[in-house]
Amino acid sequence: SGKSGPRRLSIFGSTGSIGQNTLDVVKHLGGRENFEISVLTGNENVDLLAQQARAAGARLAVTASESHYEALKGALSGSGIAVAAGQSGLMEAADLDADWVMAAIVGTAGLAPTLAAARKGADIALANKECLVSAGDLFVESVRRCGGKLLPVDSEHNAIFQVLEENQRHAVERIILTASGGPFRNASLEEMAGVNVETARAHPNWSMGLKISIDSASMFNKALEMIEAKHLFGLAPDQIEVIVHPQSVIHSMVGYTDGSVLAQLGAPDMRTAIGYALAHPRRPNLPIERLDFAKLARLDFEAPDEARFPALRLARLAMTRGGVQGAVLNAAKEVALEAFIAGRLSFLAMADVTETVMDQLVDVPDAATMDDVFAVDQEARQRAAALVAIREKAA
Ligand code: NAD
Ligand code: MG
Repeated sequence: SGKSGPRRLSIFGSTGSIGQNTLDVVKHLGGRENFEISVLTGNENVDLLAQQARAAGARLAVTASESHYEALKGALSGSGIAVAAGQSGLMEAADLDADWVMAAIVGTAGLAPTLAAARKGADIALANKECLVSAGDLFVESVRRCGGKLLPVDSEHNAIFQVLEENQRHAVERIILTASGGPFRNASLEEMAGVNVETARAHPNWSMGLKISIDSASMFNKALEMIEAKHLFGLAPDQIEVIVHPQSVIHSMVGYTDGSVLAQLGAPDMRTAIGYALAHPRRPNLPIERLDFAKLARLDFEAPDEARFPALRLARLAMTRGGVQGAVLNAAKEVALEAFIAGRLSFLAMADVTETVMDQLVDVPDAATMDDVFAVDQEARQRAAALVAIREKAA
């Protein structure tokens, strides 16, 4: 951002799937020759975090877990790398100067630090879609007002970002988000009723963190992405379409008023999106598997089935209702997802719990501040937890 010297990068959530891919991209684009690593953050996996921080020569390493502070300190002793922990540690991380921040903490935990980094004017490479789902308008406005670029990393949104020509925005008619359909694309409702975490986490094409993998199986991930797209690209709900495309080769498309559809294609490898966000506006050189169309032979498409994947309907409901319904959907879904992972809630009940909480909180006024968002987030979590408990008792 105009300053001389190497670009300073921070990676929030460096120990996760996106975080590790980001460090790999940084290495391929010259590593410490071209970049300076300000902060790396993780949670309980402090051994990996310490190893990453030493390899990257980070200035600060932060564990989100207070109780892992001593362990991280021990693992980094003698390195000269500063150590912090907990929510205050994450805010310290956001306060350290960086030109580019990868926001790859999972869930709502990423919202406050990402927003703080945005307010300091850093470019934000956004993997944490929950920021936009919960607080879209406030978040987008904060980033723009503070002078940073908002660079979508979610593969669908990165694809759209790549083919959305800035001088043709007036002619955008629709965007088409592709969805793999997940492991239950061809499963019956009866089969889906009884699935466990192990089958739900097995994504056919992408290798990702646990929560997003299960969200892909329920298509809650696509639901979040619809709302994410609305905020990122300033679209109306009926301009956002979803098509199931099992090969995950087309990462998403933009349809224009002349009938043209532009698509971005590639191997399902998050490093393409991460690299595009890091090197923007110049495309980097990356060792991603090249598409071999003769081998691919065919690309398939099918309409999504909203009876088996009600999450998509809930996303439309949240978008048309507007206000804080995105925050409600996200918070209730997170509680339901955690209950499913813990074996306390069935797979299909995640959508029921989410919809009930959305209906209960339909009249909550729109959020004027982030505190309003956090308040409604908490309210939705409590209500979802109560519903999970009732169902568990009944089961
Ligand atoms: P992950 O579970 O692999 O990693 C999450 C990271 O967040 C880890 O570094 C972890 O230590 C940290 N973390 C966990 N709980 C935390 C807490 N309470 N406070 C602070 N940090 C915490 O997840 P991921 O798959 O890398 O996904 C990260 C984000 O990127 C998510 O928002 C996800 O939806 C989004 N995303 C991921 C992919 C993908 O391919 N993995 C694709 C698109 C979008
Ligand atoms: Mg995605």
